[in-house]
Amino acid sequence: MQSNDILPLAHVVSIPLTTSFRGLTHREVLLIEGPQGPAEWSPFLEYDDAEAATWLRAALEQAFEPSSPAPSSVRVNGTIPAVAAEQVAGLLASIGMPTTVKVKVGGPGTTLADDVDRVRAVRDALGPTGRIRLDANGSWTLDEAEHAIRDMELLDLDYVEQPVSDLSDMAELRRRISRLGIQVAADESIRRFADIDTVIAAEACDVVVLKVQPLGGLEATKQVAQKALQAGLEVVVSSALETSVGLYRGAQMVGWLEERGSVLDAGLGTQSFLAHDVVSDPMGASGGILTVTPLTLDPEKLSALRADDERTTWWHQRLERCLALL
Ligand SMILES: [Mg+2]
Repeated sequence: MQSNDILPLAHVVSIPLTTSFRGLTHREVLLIEGPQGPAEWSPFLEYDDAEAATWLRAALEQAFEPSSPAPSSVRVNGTIPAVAAEQVAGLLASIGMPTTVKVKVGGPGTTLADDVDRVRAVRDALGPTGRIRLDANGSWTLDEAEHAIRDMELLDLDYVEQPVSDLSDMAELRRRISRLGIQVAADESIRRFADIDTVIAAEACDVVVLKVQPLGGLEATKQVAQKALQAGLEVVVSSALETSVGLYRGAQMVGWLEERGSVLDAGLGTQSFLAHDVVSDPMGASGGILTVTPLTLDPEKLSALRADDERTTWWHQRLERCLALL
C-alpha cells in the first residue's frame, strides 16, 4: 500500500486529555476512513518508526480487512491515576463505582507512602468485594517492588501489572511473592521488551495484558492470546489510551476471548481520559460496563479537533516512512 492510497482517507487530530498521562496533555491520532470502517493509528510520539509501523499494521487491518462485530457491552476496570488519596472516592464515584479498579503506582510524582494511601482509599471506597489491580509500568526495582507489595498485602490485591521492567526480575519477584496470593501481570514485557514466547519461557507472570494496536492488529493479538491461554496464563485486553475507534478493536478482541471462556475485566474503560472523541457515539464506561457502539466518524468533531498543519505534515511523513517498513 502507498501513502497516496491512504492520505485521501486520513484525518490527523489532536485531542486534549482530561488527566495528563506519561507527561502528555494531548493525544495525537491519525484516523483512516477505510472501506471496512474507521481505523486508528496512534503510536506515541516518541516511538521509533519500527514500533510505529507495527501499530500501522493494526490500523491498516482495521481499515481494510473484514472482521466480526464486537459484543454490545464489555466488562471493564476503572482506572485511578497517581492522584492523592483524597481524590480517589470522588473519581470512583464519577465513573459509577466499577467493581474492578486498576491503580497506578510507582513512577515520578508519587512515593511508596502515597501509593499505599491511594490503594487503601480505593479499598475503602470499593469495600471488601471490589477487585484491585496495581500498575507500576515497570517503574520499580526488584526490591522496591517486593517491599511495596508486602506493604499492600493486606489490601487484597488481584495482581500487580509490570512491577519491574526486566523480565528476569519479574520472574524472581513472582517467586518471592508467590505465597501472598498476588499475581503478576506482564504488559510492557509483551511487545516493548520481549515477545510472548520469551515471557512464557521465563515463567515471569500469571496474567498477560494485551493491546491490539501495539501488537499489530486483531489477528496478531489472537495469536499471542492463543499462546498465552495454552500456557495457562490469563489474558486481559487493554487499550493504549485510544479513541473509541481503537477501543472498538479491543472490544472485538474481548469477544474472541469470551468465546473461549476467558472473562477477566478489560482495561478498555479509558475513553474518559480524552476530553473529546471522534465518533458520533463515544464508547464510555460506567459502573464497570463499557457500552460498545458502532463507529461513525463525526465530521464536526474531526474538524474541531484537527491538528495544525505542522503536526499534520509530521504525521503524513511518519506514515510514509512506516509504510516503507511494512
Ligand atoms: Mg499497564
